[in-house]
Amino acid sequence: MSYQAIARKYRPETFAQVVGQNHVTGTLRAALRKGKLSHAYLFSGPRGCGKTTVARLLAKAINCHTGAKGDPCGECDVCKAIAKGGYLDVLEIDAASNTGVDNVRELREMAQYSPSSGSSRVFIIDEVHMLSKGAFNALLKILEEPPPQVFFFFATTEPNKIPRTILSRCQRFDFRLLSRDELTGRLNQIAEAEGVKLADSGVRLLVSLAEGSVRDGLSLLDQVIAGAEGEIDEAAVVQAFGLVRSELFLELNEAIIAKDPARALRLVETLASTGQSLDIFSRGVVANFRNLMLLKIDVELASMVDVPPDQVEKLMEQAATFSEQDLLALIDRAGRHFERIHRSSQQRIFLEASLVEYCRFESRILLSDLVRRLETGGRSEGAGNGNGGRQARKPLANSAPNPPVNSTNKSTTNESQPPQESRDTAPPEVLDEPVPGWTKLINLLMESSPRIGSCLMQGMPELDETKGILRVTFAEDMKFQLKNIQAEGGKIQEIASRSLGRELKVVLTLGGKGQTERGHEEIRQKVAPTHMEELEKACRKDQQLGDLVDLMGGKPLPDSDRERWDPPSK
Ligand SMILES: [Zn+2]
Repeated sequence: MSYQAIARKYRPETFAQVVGQNHVTGTLRAALRKGKLSHAYLFSGPRGCGKTTVARLLAKAINCHTGAKGDPCGECDVCKAIAKGGYLDVLEIDAASNTGVDNVRELREMAQYSPSSGSSRVFIIDEVHMLSKGAFNALLKILEEPPPQVFFFFATTEPNKIPRTILSRCQRFDFRLLSRDELTGRLNQIAEAEGVKLADSGVRLLVSLAEGSVRDGLSLLDQVIAGAEGEIDEAAVVQAFGLVRSELFLELNEAIIAKDPARALRLVETLASTGQSLDIFSRGVVANFRNLMLLKIDVELASMVDVPPDQVEKLMEQAATFSEQDLLALIDRAGRHFERIHRSSQQRIFLEASLVEYCRFESRILLSDLVRRLETGGRSEGAGNGNGGRQARKPLANSAPNPPVNSTNKSTTNESQPPQESRDTAPPEVLDEPVPGWTKLINLLMESSPRIGSCLMQGMPELDETKGILRVTFAEDMKFQLKNIQAEGGKIQEIASRSLGRELKVVLTLGGKGQTERGHEEIRQKVAPTHMEELEKACRKDQQLGDLVDLMGGKPLPDSDRERWDPPSK
């Protein structure tokens, strides 16, 4: 038995078998049943999602005499001949290689003759947007007065390149990429029919590689079946395509959170020494930051996150330690880095440089935020964000907080604030703390257990002095963070008692407002080991420096960068 590519073997033979394009096939079947077909159809949409397949089905349905309910039978001589491409009245033209006006003139002449044996003559023109201007003009002449029983089915990935005169004479259908579920279903179905064991982890990765294209999905499956022995799981797919295992991204995140470039660089060494693609890895870095962003925004978005289910929890935990703004900035950088790495002949060096940059990444101020502050005379924001009206001037560490995304009306709130009179001289930590000693507690936790520390800082603390209870409340959407540390109550209690200087009972609860994004951001920046305090001291001494740093959200350089910026010695 000769080998047949899966994509060909399982090409849909009825409209019902076309996955994910019901909005197209439903309408076409109805038109067929009623005998109300248009002379020209335009099928637009991304590559590999069934445009030419549907065009061929439609050509069969028009010419097949035994099919019912608007579907071709797939069995008769006509259907079989069309499937093989040997039916004279159905002509497939690839516009990518036949762009000229001559080809279309030829086609026009053909269209004038009555169909040979079947009842209708069909021209399927793929990538129709590639036709030359002259060719489009020639085509327009036929479309203006189409001979009876002549049909045109155009397929294109770029409908915007088709002249409006042509578009207006076509009925247009937009094809869409397949959802993860649709593609998963299709691949599982075919694997079963082929007698291949396809593990969930394997199909997940294949679906992710196919990016919604059923054609790509099938050819990937084909390739992995050809090379694999036994069950097809993630490892088999990784091996077949020289991919990168998803755990490596968790490891990268750990390195970034720990601000440990050495750890990230060892990752590159692992990739290189095991022959994994640096190109694919650097593309994966972008997707990884995107996954973190989704989980940061809402844990309910986990279904859109493209990692094995057993890694989602860990990823959520990591997402909690980033701010939304940081992740947006990281996505942006990683995207640009990928472009550079992708084109480079020195991929390893550029990849290493990019990973070091992520590990040295410091939260950045938004330009819009800076402009807003310039407009309000450089005053820090603080009121009106649900922080319990903490209006005292914030310490420097908070001078460049990342504002919550939905805070467009803040500047108006600020205008009513009295101007800041003088600089505070008290130690900054004391000023801003919701509970005295809170920063110290988080700091100690970050040192001994960053996971607990980073989760706890997202809760809003409240101290009941008389009962000796430290209550930390988490907002409803912080359910995950709460769950994550609930089992660690004893440890938190011990450190809390130490840093707040008295025996305390710690109660972690869900509900209520929880910590604000700003409050979280403030403490996160405080507990990060920087030279912030040093700069703060200098600013308290020098009013002008303080104002400037405050306004610009200035921050000290990390140690590693200092030498670079020192002025030359001579
Ligand atoms: Zn038929």
